[in-house]
Amino acid sequence: MGILEGKFAFVSGASRGIGRAIALTLAEEGAHVAFTYRSSKDAAEALRLELESKGVQALCFACDAASFSQTEEVVGKILEAFGRLDVVVNNAGITRDNLLMRMSEESFDEVIQNNLKSVFNVTKSVQRTLLKQRSGSIINISSVVGKGGNPGQANYAASKAGMNGFTQSVAKELGSRNIRCNAIAPGFIETEMTAELDASQKEQWLQHIPLKRGGTPQDVARLVVFLASDDSSYITGQVINVCGGMQI
Ligand code: NAP
Repeated sequence: MGILEGKFAFVSGASRGIGRAIALTLAEEGAHVAFTYRSSKDAAEALRLELESKGVQALCFACDAASFSQTEEVVGKILEAFGRLDVVVNNAGITRDNLLMRMSEESFDEVIQNNLKSVFNVTKSVQRTLLKQRSGSIINISSVVGKGGNPGQANYAASKAGMNGFTQSVAKELGSRNIRCNAIAPGFIETEMTAELDASQKEQWLQHIPLKRGGTPQDVARLVVFLASDDSSYITGQVINVCGGMQI
């Protein structure tokens, strides 16, 4: 029997990469999973079928995480179908890297909307239900860059640092109702997002990783399972690195 048997989970942006691994790992541990994607319809449908093959309920919705109205509507449909939510994972995110000198206002705003406002959109939409339940675990996928910054990623670092502050504030606001809120800060994880980096950029990252390898989406997903489970019931307001020791 899985550690999340019978729990109901939501994951934003799960058509590929870390979100996909999170959705699959939650299902392998027995959770029913609803997830969103923005544009990868075929990949999302394939994931929905794969989740169902694990014997859990699976729902998928096209939803732009940056849109409050779309998020509110989709969360409403999920709650109608599931009746509750125990685990909420804010994973959807993008990069629009450039040195500040060349960064446009549009790409700054786009990253903040997709990576930070999206977390407000989901958390606000599920809050009432979690309060009524007097339980819930919210898990925000942040980044080590939100703690230490990175050249060429001022927009991304600002979005993830904002996410960390949001996480801690929500943990303080909702803790008395048995609702936990934590963030995970991955380092260099091998996905399509990091496939954009060239060989010299990857080499630079690896030089700073004591474990001398990039992480896998599964490395992040295992921590999500722990934070989603009752095994972490005294952990809230934390930003936990999964980075092979990159940030020590
Ligand atoms: P990825 O491979 O680029 O996948 C991103 C996923 O998010 C896709 O499924 C995409 O859906 C979805 N998405 C993006 N914008 C969306 C939006 N506005 N609405 C709904 N869905 C949206 O990225 P990843 O590497 O798995 O990263 C996942 C999360 O981990 C992000 O928050 C990222 O910042 C964080 N992270 C990643 C790394 C890393 O090294 N990879 C490190 C630290 C933190 P579509 O394909 O349908 O657009």
